[in-house]
Amino acid sequence: MSLQLCYCTIGIYSEQEFYFDMEKEYTTELLLDFGKDGDQLVPVVTQDIRTKDVLILAFANKEAFEETVRSGFATYYSRSRKELWKKGLTSGDLLKVEEIRINCDQNSLIYLVTPLGKGACHAKKASGDPYTTCYYRRVIQGNRLMFIEF
Ligand SMILES: [Zn+2]
Repeated sequence: MSLQLCYCTIGIYSEQEFYFDMEKEYTTELLLDFGKDGDQLVPVVTQDIRTKDVLILAFANKEAFEETVRSGFATYYSRSRKELWKKGLTSGDLLKVEEIRINCDQNSLIYLVTPLGKGACHAKKASGDPYTTCYYRRVIQGNRLMFIEF
């Protein structure tokens, strides 16, 4: 898609205004927007790079994001413990980050990972192994849960 095409379509903007307004959408510069209020977090979807299963939805602050880039392992910010949370640091279930994607507004992320341990969740199956994804139950009939991983 070319910028020029968009510019022609949205003719009410001057060229300068257009590029200013759309800067974060079209730039190759990282302008990660953590917001201005609260703990300054962005949501992070974590997906298995091979299966594309969603494993975790968590949050990152600037420090967590930078630690993820530096270390190559998925790191989040724990809202309950109010501290950095390197997934698998104690359990060994580390998530190796193969690729990071960012959305149009630069206010959320996808970590595409290879799980190095037995799973991604802190909850355990009957076998004692962690669930491979946090989304191991399906909502049924609007108010019940059905296990889809055992
Ligand atoms: Zn979980």
